[in-house]
Amino acid sequence: MPIDPDFQLHRRAEAYGNLKVWKNDSSRLGIYGTDVAVDFDLCVGDGACIDVCPVNVFEWQGEGADRKALPALERDCIYCFGCEAVCPKFAIRVTPLVRR
Ligand code: SF4
Repeated sequence: MPIDPDFQLHRRAEAYGNLKVWKNDSSRLGIYGTDVAVDFDLCVGDGACIDVCPVNVFEWQGEGADRKALPALERDCIYCFGCEAVCPKFAIRVTPLVRR
């Protein structure tokens, strides 16, 4: 199952540094970020998004099997949608119209 494209309607947001993390009763880790959102419950940490992003939005978080791609600099996103296209788990949702 891919990331819920309407996660902002279906989940509650908590602050996570400069980002938000979106959770509901069925999420374990949650969705990190808003404009560039990564579902950490789906992310397998293969790094495809990190490799493809032309403006280095993502950074690694965690170690080993728990390693995830955090959209730490989502405000720098240029909306090329490369990360969405390469993610093998469809764990990423980019939403250009939502600004905070
Ligand atoms: S849409 Fe493009 S610029 Fe934005 S985070 Fe994804 S790969 Fe990077």
